[in-house]
Amino acid sequence: MGLAPAVQGDNAASLRIKPGPILLLGAPGVGKGTQAKELMARWGIPQISTGDLLRDNRDHGTALGLEAKQIMAQGKLVPDELVNQMVAERLKLPDTFDGYILDGYPRTLGQAHWLDGHIGTVPRALPVIAISIRVSYTQLLRRITGRRNCPVCGSIYNIYLQPPKVDELCDLDGTPLARRSDDTEEVLEERMRTYGLLTAPVVEHYRALGRFEEVDGEQPVNEVAAGVMAAVARLRG
Ligand code: AMP
Repeated sequence: MGLAPAVQGDNAASLRIKPGPILLLGAPGVGKGTQAKELMARWGIPQISTGDLLRDNRDHGTALGLEAKQIMAQGKLVPDELVNQMVAERLKLPDTFDGYILDGYPRTLGQAHWLDGHIGTVPRALPVIAISIRVSYTQLLRRITGRRNCPVCGSIYNIYLQPPKVDELCDLDGTPLARRSDDTEEVLEERMRTYGLLTAPVVEHYRALGRFEEVDGEQPVNEVAAGVMAAVARLRG
């Protein structure tokens, strides 16, 4: 796989470091998914999403999946022991040996303590570093409430940041643009509250260990990517 354009011009020194486990944090809409792809392309490391692993278990009807199914349907957190065990299994696979991007895990302080302890037992494994992508509430609100899509061709717009040529109409086929029902200020507020409640202790944990950095997410994607790479290089330096 070639490097993503965003990281091509970036400092080559960061290519030589071993990335180790990187926890990417950020509220919904900060561009975490985009940045995770950049990191994967740069270092050829996998993304480990506990949400994806749980859905996979649920869909395959494994014992873990059966246990987690109800809890997930209610939007509650699956017990730490189950999630930790699942992560332990995933970390046995050799594609994780140079590093991996953690997505949605650790989500509680208990999970963070368990993960740190587990990594400590693996010879030569690097400790977790955490990088948070920060975007102001005003900017998130514009990103989310301004989002529109064309129901016919799937083109994506933002009425504030990337507007169509004619108000609310698709540039390509003139179809009236649609808006996702959950792209509202109320839903954003609720998601932000949940995010803050769940992740604040995890942030404090890694900050206290000196393994935390925040990157400004209100710049062009390339610059955010460069900021994330630089933070990884500093934390691994
Ligand atoms: P996500 O795709 O990360 O939003 O996760 C979907 C669902 O899976 C969550 O609502 C939880 O029920 C469960 N889940 C995912 N990750 C974790 C985790 N680290 N700890 C506990 N439950 C989790």
